[in-house]
Amino acid sequence: MIREQEDQAWMRLAIEEAKKAEQIGEVPIGAILVKDGEIVGRGYNLREINHDPTAHAEMVAIREACERLGAWRLLDCTLYVTLEPCPMCAGAIVQSRVKRVVYGTGDPKAGCAGTLMNLLQEPRFNHETELTSGILQTECAELLTNFFRNLRNKRKL
Ligand SMILES: [Zn+2]
Repeated sequence: MIREQEDQAWMRLAIEEAKKAEQIGEVPIGAILVKDGEIVGRGYNLREINHDPTAHAEMVAIREACERLGAWRLLDCTLYVTLEPCPMCAGAIVQSRVKRVVYGTGDPKAGCAGTLMNLLQEPRFNHETELTSGILQTECAELLTNFFRNLRNKRKL
């Protein structure tokens, strides 16, 4: 399989995580961590339910992977996430030494993997990730636009 097809297949699983968030009224953002062709961590946004501003999909997936692998370093892992990481998650990605990040759609308000700044590839830090963007961009973006449209419609009623 060429890498883009492989990336799309994993991103579909991150989208499944995002849909779990949507089902419980959370903003639909999902993430998975893959090591050696196997999922070692998964997560979706739980900010509202957990009353936790740090419960972003990436943070949840990173915590699960570290627990599962018994390590704080995620050296050979690839993180797939539907939305471009924010500064907090980009920080956690660098701290956990994730090898590669693949995201779906950019975030003009908080994206720190190339949109507002690029914390994942900052040569002054002690770790830089490989980075791929725009995988299943339309699907990932539509999740969010549909969610916010529905929310607005509900509020009108
Ligand atoms: Zn984040």
